[in-house]
Amino acid sequence: MYRADTHVHSTFSFDGRVKAEDLVLLALEKGLTFLSFTEHLDLCTQSFDDFLTMEKAFSKEIARLSSRYGDQIQIVKGLEFAEPHRYQKELLAVEKMNFGYLLGAVHFIDGRSVARKELPPKENEEHAKRYYEELFSLVTFGRVDAVAHFDHIRRGIGEDRYQLSTLRDIFKEMIRKDIVLEVNTSGIRRTNGEPFPSREKVLLYRSLGGNKVTIGSDTHIESNLYQFVEETYGELTLLGLTPGVFSRRTFVTR
Ligand SMILES: [Zn+2]
Ligand SMILES: [Zn+2]
Repeated sequence: MYRADTHVHSTFSFDGRVKAEDLVLLALEKGLTFLSFTEHLDLCTQSFDDFLTMEKAFSKEIARLSSRYGDQIQIVKGLEFAEPHRYQKELLAVEKMNFGYLLGAVHFIDGRSVARKELPPKENEEHAKRYYEELFSLVTFGRVDAVAHFDHIRRGIGEDRYQLSTLRDIFKEMIRKDIVLEVNTSGIRRTNGEPFPSREKVLLYRSLGGNKVTIGSDTHIESNLYQFVEETYGELTLLGLTPGVFSRRTFVTR
């Protein structure tokens, strides 16, 4: 069974509410054997110096937690890097920091958050277009292990808009580069019951030859840890997909 949550934020993220150790204890209570912390690096709103300070403490804490709980649960020091293709110097530095999992995300377009309904509704079509263009640039640049919450723009614009040809181009590039698709269960609680990406996009990924997926709750609070992960695992394996996790930047199935 897949008792893993690959996308978790602790207080090392600006919006995380729970201490890393408390998340580990909660994960143990739920019977998880794998937990990947994917703290934020949002250079649109955060300085790299601040990140470096955080990273030192984060690294130390992951080492401490691994030695304390490592016989019960595998703990991975991961990172959710927003628009890494725009910050190549910083990405080079990050690549030397021993992260076990590097998730690439699009969180901002033109300095505005895609998740927070900051976008004027009249321009939904344009925002969706810009979002997927940014995602295409991200995967074309590559160098990340997986793409976080693929159609997150649904959260910001409140509907699902996309050009099928663009989605195909993004998925094909991901498959070519071996960038894994994350299925982020936060969509189930945050939108209309569909994960990020929605089930029909997961099917499109599959039909184009995509196979590998990771599953993460994207939790920032206690109650969302591992939420909907088991059900999603069941659905994805029925579709013929292979859920796995990243450790030492390598995809492994469990
Ligand atoms: Zn994110
Ligand atoms: Zn996240």
